Amino acid sequence: MPRKPDVPCRYPGCSRLIPAGERYCDEHRSKVNSDYEKYGRDKTAKRKYGRAWKRIRDRYAAEHPFCEMCYEKGVMAKTEQIHHKLPLSEGGTHDRSNLIALCKPCHSRIHAQRGDRWNRR
Ligand SMILES: [Zn+2]
Ligand SMILES: [Zn+2]
Ligand SMILES: [Zn+2]
Repeated sequence: MPRKPDVPCRYPGCSRLIPAGERYCDEHRSKVNSDYEKYGRDKTAKRKYGRAWKRIRDRYAAEHPFCEMCYEKGVMAKTEQIHHKLPLSEGGTHDRSNLIALCKPCHSRIHAQRGDRWNRR
């Protein structure tokens, strides 16, 4: 009897269900592997979102248990994501002055607004 697939693929935006213990669906496993071959040896690129970031993010989230944007409006919304005010791709850093703790709705709103601005540029 086949085991029930029960975890989603970890590839961003993909929610295909795969067996527990796997990380990616077949399609994304090969994509991730080829990305790794291309970029995996470039340590500086990897470090951007590496283990250090996870540690910084976890600590920042622990110190900011509530969404900072909601908090300003007097709403206590649980922190779900840490956002870079200036994206790493635009020269931002993991410095806490560049971080903000957000709930999911606030985070996606920020990105939607940024996206709009980009499109109109
Ligand atoms: Zn996938
Ligand atoms: Zn919020
Ligand atoms: Zn963000």
